[in-house]
Amino acid sequence: MDRPVEDSGDFAAIPDEFQRLWTPHRMVYIQGGEQPHIDECPFCRAPSLTDEEGLIVARGEHAYVLLNLFPYNSGHLLVCPYRHVATYDLATAEEVAEIASLTQTAMRVLTEISRCDGFNIGMNQGRVAGAGVAGHLHQHIVPRWMSDSNFFPIIARTKALPQLLGDVRAGIQAAWPKEHASEQ
Ligand SMILES: [Zn+2]
Repeated sequence: MDRPVEDSGDFAAIPDEFQRLWTPHRMVYIQGGEQPHIDECPFCRAPSLTDEEGLIVARGEHAYVLLNLFPYNSGHLLVCPYRHVATYDLATAEEVAEIASLTQTAMRVLTEISRCDGFNIGMNQGRVAGAGVAGHLHQHIVPRWMSDSNFFPIIARTKALPQLLGDVRAGIQAAWPKEHASEQ
């Protein structure tokens, strides 16, 4: 029986030039690392979906947290304001404060459940700076392990991801503190 194939364009994500090697591979099929057929902003659309469909792990009052469909590492999260603003200087004080607190919570949760050794955290502001979805502000939280960089990305532009996105999302959401837990 054929396994269901989900169009990667239905998910919010930051496309990049890596191909993914899924282990095990099922469910989500990535074609070429592009985000096809989406006119609507993926970060405006994601909150209107269920947590599972939108890959959302937590919803705050002004900002929310979702899994990146094109992760650099397993557990790569994005923190976005609900409002469609392009750059950090356009965010309100309330949005800045909640993006910061959600980022702190994400670090604690990822450290607890994945035993990562460090993080890369940051925002690419503008397409020239590498933003895949330049119109909607998003902060990357990328967990790092001592042994996470291997020869794959260098020679093959391929990353082996040990867990499926759905499993990763469910694990992070389950570990998220209840006061910030998503309602949906
Ligand atoms: Zn948007």
